[in-house]
Amino acid sequence: MPRTFLIRISMQEKSKLPTKQYQALLVEYLTPLKSQVILLALLLLINIGLQLINPLIVGAYLDAVEAGSSLDVLIRAAAVFMGIAIVAQVFRITVTYVGENIAWTSTNNLRSDLALHCLKLDMSFHKQYKPGELIERVDGDVTQLANFFSQLVIRLGANLLLVIGVLILLGLQDWRLGISITAVAVVGMVALNWLNKRSVPRWQVVREVEAKLFGFLEEWLNGTEEIRSSGAESFILLRLYQAMRTRWHKVIRAMRIQVLVSDLPLGVFALAYVAAHILGASLYRDGVLTIGGIYLIFYYIDLMKGPLWEILRQVEDLQRASASINRVTELRGIKPTIQDGTGASFPKGPLAVVFSDVAFHYEDDPGTDVLKHVDFSLKPGEVLGLLGRTGSGKTTLTKLLFRFHDVTSGSIKLGSYSFENDKAGLFDIRLAKEADLRRHIGMVTQEVQLFNATVRQNVTLFDDLIPDERILQALKEVGLGSWVNELPQGLDTVLEAGGSDLSAGQAQLLAFTRVFLDDPGLVILDEASSRLDPATERLIEQAVDRLFANRTAIVIAHHLGTIQRADEILILDSGHIAEYGARQELARNPDSLFSRLLKTGMEEAMA
Ligand code: ATP
Ligand code: MG
Repeated sequence: MPRTFLIRISMQEKSKLPTKQYQALLVEYLTPLKSQVILLALLLLINIGLQLINPLIVGAYLDAVEAGSSLDVLIRAAAVFMGIAIVAQVFRITVTYVGENIAWTSTNNLRSDLALHCLKLDMSFHKQYKPGELIERVDGDVTQLANFFSQLVIRLGANLLLVIGVLILLGLQDWRLGISITAVAVVGMVALNWLNKRSVPRWQVVREVEAKLFGFLEEWLNGTEEIRSSGAESFILLRLYQAMRTRWHKVIRAMRIQVLVSDLPLGVFALAYVAAHILGASLYRDGVLTIGGIYLIFYYIDLMKGPLWEILRQVEDLQRASASINRVTELRGIKPTIQDGTGASFPKGPLAVVFSDVAFHYEDDPGTDVLKHVDFSLKPGEVLGLLGRTGSGKTTLTKLLFRFHDVTSGSIKLGSYSFENDKAGLFDIRLAKEADLRRHIGMVTQEVQLFNATVRQNVTLFDDLIPDERILQALKEVGLGSWVNELPQGLDTVLEAGGSDLSAGQAQLLAFTRVFLDDPGLVILDEASSRLDPATERLIEQAVDRLFANRTAIVIAHHLGTIQRADEILILDSGHIAEYGARQELARNPDSLFSRLLKTGMEEAMA
């Protein structure tokens, strides 16, 4: 069964064709390609003209044979016929080429616009839409629009013209012929449309059932290990059988109508031929039509087949595109709530950080304050150790600094800090440009995201302007110098996505390298809680030393060694500050939470 049948759309989607949105999209994405579009329209018109003219020559040829004309005349007619046929073929190839070009250029532009748009949207948007769904929006829906952009409107018009042209030419042969063939064509189209309307919802159901089946398969493949270890194979197979059985039933139901839809055209044309035979014979006998004329009638009926079905297909395509256009327009309509700042000037060197009475809750969970009354300030170059149980809000606090989310109340300020002029030179991070903000803050997360790209690209994050010497120097600084030297292709060695060929420690060190290359004034280190082997742990400790040198740092620490580097300690408890002060003072005070933590051991206390 052809795949295209499965992509038909439901009747509700069909009833409201979003004409305004069509226009907006067409104008936006076709204006840059104006000359190509005009060329395509011209080519199509000429193509139609050639298709209509050629049979006239054959008709004349046949009549000339009957009239006993000289061989010369016949050869000339044949040569013209073949010449036109070849030219028409060349035109058809050019139409395809230009059409595909327009389709790909316009949809690729739309794809990149949508991808960029999504990247700018809030984190809450990305949490709401699953990756698969976004791929479907940015690529799947846009693919549906390829035909819409390049050909649909032009082709619909052109084919209508062609059918009308054929009917007129038939009418010119004889009006009775014109009328009866027109009648057959109209009745056929109406009937087909009626059937189509009934088959579309059935295919829609098939699509839904298939989506479920594939969702189930994905879940099942992802959980292969669990399924095997729990001995759930037979349960899974039962569910698979059930899903496939449902699909089988639904496909049969849809195919019953589909058979009619695909066979009706044959019937309609059989009727047209019958009409042509009966009328043609009697008109020939009456001397109204010549043999050439009879030939023309059959040729034209044949010629009409293509465009008639193409019109049906295009109308269907338009309906299918309309659902995609709706979704694409909707996506484009979503605006980020986080507005980029007007710009602030970042001082050179380490940054001061001031949180004033910060409260925050996630957009999708307004009832739960993840952070409350968070107040602290860091002078340039200081290191803050951030501690707290899992879920206490540590990672959330660091995300606010990047403006992945905005604070619900209170403020976060960055800048320079002078003791004489209290907190002068600070600016609210909402004033800074997002790009500046992210350039001046470096981040090493718990789980390092590595790309399926070369070592160089992984540490420069695809910035080609950074020279190799700097990269190698930075790798050496974090202690990966010998590692990279031993790689088969050095910096050009391709890493696997997810870093499955690296140890957790090496991945962290690569993330450190990224920060060194960026040289930000503030670093955030969300330390991996996993235990590392002593050698790697030492490497990381040395790298952390270098990382914190001449930078302000916020470190979510899990290892005692890292905590010892902090000047100040902040312990979070369900979003509240449970304790905040200079590390050494807290350590000296036997009643402090911190000293108790040190005594009981980090890992147990934090669990
Ligand atoms: P861990 O030590 O496990 O990393 P954490 O202190 O970093 O924990 P956060 O990740 O900041 O904790 O989470 C704080 C609270 O916010 C948790 O209750 C969590 O469920 C919630 N939370 C985290 N991310 C989101 C999100 N994107 N949307 C809604 N709630 C979230
Ligand atoms: Mg965390």
